[in-house]
Amino acid sequence: MQSNQKVALVTGASRGIGRATAMELARSGFAIGINYLTSEEPAQQLKNELDDMLVNSVLLQADISDEPQVEAMFAQLDASFGRLTALVNNAGVLDVQGSLLDLNAQRINRLLQTNVTGSMLCAREAVKRMSTAQGGAGGSIVNVSSVAARTGSPNEYLDYAASKGAIDTFTKGLASEVAGQGIRVNAVRPGFIHTQMHADGGEPNRVERLASSIPMQRGGLPEEVASAIRFLISEQAAYISGSIVDVAGGR
Ligand code: NAP
Repeated sequence: MQSNQKVALVTGASRGIGRATAMELARSGFAIGINYLTSEEPAQQLKNELDDMLVNSVLLQADISDEPQVEAMFAQLDASFGRLTALVNNAGVLDVQGSLLDLNAQRINRLLQTNVTGSMLCAREAVKRMSTAQGGAGGSIVNVSSVAARTGSPNEYLDYAASKGAIDTFTKGLASEVAGQGIRVNAVRPGFIHTQMHADGGEPNRVERLASSIPMQRGGLPEEVASAIRFLISEQAAYISGSIVDVAGGR
């Protein structure tokens, strides 16, 4: 590997927005850490495609909600590439649609543990490696929030929306905390994007159902979120930190 090789870790890269982001960053010259939870075959398929493009990558199976697994994942990344330039905190989950009355502590905590705790733990490990105060070379973090952080997702995903509100706040706070350490922190807030996530919420055709409520009258593509993430990571965004970019078709 070249000594100036840029390295990005994308959590939840086996499918959807994470996969598209890994491909976009690979095309921009990054070596890629491909994190996934259970989807080994799709993750391996992505790695095969990166191999064909002569892009260095490593498969990193880890549950981001589990602290020892997060630490082991970053140690594996260190062993493979020896540095980290960018973290995309993309992995996230939701549960079946419902109102507040359908929620219970187990569901809420499981969701917060992945979407909030997991993102914070990954950011912590990234900052340890990137911070100029810790001997690092600086870097960039992009958190994947959601328009749900603004709307609150009533009668659908109150817990999920609240977890993304936490991500927005975390983005602001961390950006200020590490701005003097060579690290930029931003977030994207996707709207309705065509991925499998909606099937996990019990409505595979949710994006089609809601398309007419979007000013642009269509759902977004994972690649359209990925290009915003790539921009925020790039040097073109060198003076942008603490920003939250809506990628939501005008919604
Ligand atoms: P997706 O297709 O459901 O993919 C989720 C990814 O996260 C998968 O790669 C999954 O891995 C991984 N993952 C889940 N839990 C994990 C864990 N504990 N540890 C490690 N990886 C884990 O989702 P998506 O639609 O692309 O969403 C990606 C991000 O965008 C999420 O943060 C989501 O909240 C956000 N977002 C999506 C939309 C949308 O409309 N799709 C809108 C706004 C925001 P496995 O495949 O191995 O399980």
